[in-house]
Amino acid sequence: MSDCLFCQIVAGQIPSYRLYEDEAAIAFLDIGPWHRGHSLVVPKRHTIDGTVEADSWHELAEALVTVSQLLRSKLGASGINLLSNAGASAGQEVFHFHVHVIPRYDDHPGMAGLSERDPGAADDLAGLHALLMAQ
Ligand code: 5GP
Ligand code: ZN
Repeated sequence: MSDCLFCQIVAGQIPSYRLYEDEAAIAFLDIGPWHRGHSLVVPKRHTIDGTVEADSWHELAEALVTVSQLLRSKLGASGINLLSNAGASAGQEVFHFHVHVIPRYDDHPGMAGLSERDPGAADDLAGLHALLMAQ
């Protein structure tokens, strides 16, 4: 869909710090991270709501595991939250299905810490991307 933000990111029409790509999915850094390394995994095909069909999740499985492992190994995340907001009342703002992959560290643990933005989480996304992509 030409007016969909994430379709435009998939197509490369809007730049993103891309972490992973396969046939069905891409992953990139969230521009407004709650915790350092907060990433989004999205299907390449436009679909709105992940709670409607199981195939949407099958398409993302490899990407979700790969990105989670990357955040653990490169950033030292000790935990990961996988979260999808389905519907405006659940907080969905971009209506192209996506899963937030939110690395968690030991300083703000638990569900309460999920909604506290880490100071500096959005700093130097270019440097963070380079670090995550380094061999
Ligand atoms: P939602 O609230 O729909 O679950 O999450 C949408 C997410 O997309 C938010 O975390 C927001 O920071 C992120 N986002 C919005 N616009 C952009 C963008 O242009 N680039 C990137 N990388 N992330 C975006
Ligand atoms: Zn789309």
